[in-house]
Amino acid sequence: MKVKLQEDVLKNQNLAASFNRKTFNAHHLFVVNLMSSPGAGKTTLLEETVKALKQEYTIGVIEGDLATERDALRLRRLGVATVQINTVGGCHLDARMVAKTLPEFDLKEIDLLFIENIGNLVCPSSYDLGQGKKVVILSVPEGNDKIPKYPVMFKRTDMTVINKIDLLPYVDFSLVQAEADLATINSEARLMSVSAQTGEGMEEWLDWLREGVKSCKEQ
Ligand code: MG
Ligand code: ZN
Repeated sequence: MKVKLQEDVLKNQNLAASFNRKTFNAHHLFVVNLMSSPGAGKTTLLEETVKALKQEYTIGVIEGDLATERDALRLRRLGVATVQINTVGGCHLDARMVAKTLPEFDLKEIDLLFIENIGNLVCPSSYDLGQGKKVVILSVPEGNDKIPKYPVMFKRTDMTVINKIDLLPYVDFSLVQAEADLATINSEARLMSVSAQTGEGMEEWLDWLREGVKSCKEQ
């Protein structure tokens, strides 16, 4: 069954966000909006997540990029339905762009939908896509100052994933400091640390996703 889009949804941001939310809820779909700066490892984390969960769930991916179809190709190679959004220079995804992709998915079949946002720690946090959860990925080579310097991003997020922890011995990054900084900005936000490369910490991340899928199914 395909989603039908009404014309006005594509004209108005708030309408589009609530259309997306209603559509996701109606399909008991767990939707994760993945945000980070460029190079934090969103696509790699997504690839490893898909590999680990694709036997359990039907997964869909919306790939946002300024240009190219590279990341979408990486996900399609794993056999998941993936729709690419090219923003042609636009620095964030908005709800209308996401709404536009929904007719391309068979949402009834999908349990878990990832939206990979544009690599940018600033404005993606201000755009409600109608998602279930917002996740921000911070990689250790970026340094500890990202949390205090981009407070809005970390304030409005449900989960912070510290990625590339396999590089901790080589870079100046403190997990304890990151935890303390995050707690100051957002006492509700959760933090976990992973290496998508080595698989360290991935089980906790996957369990968090499983919990999300489960609670959406029960709604
Ligand atoms: Mg990417
Ligand atoms: Zn922007």
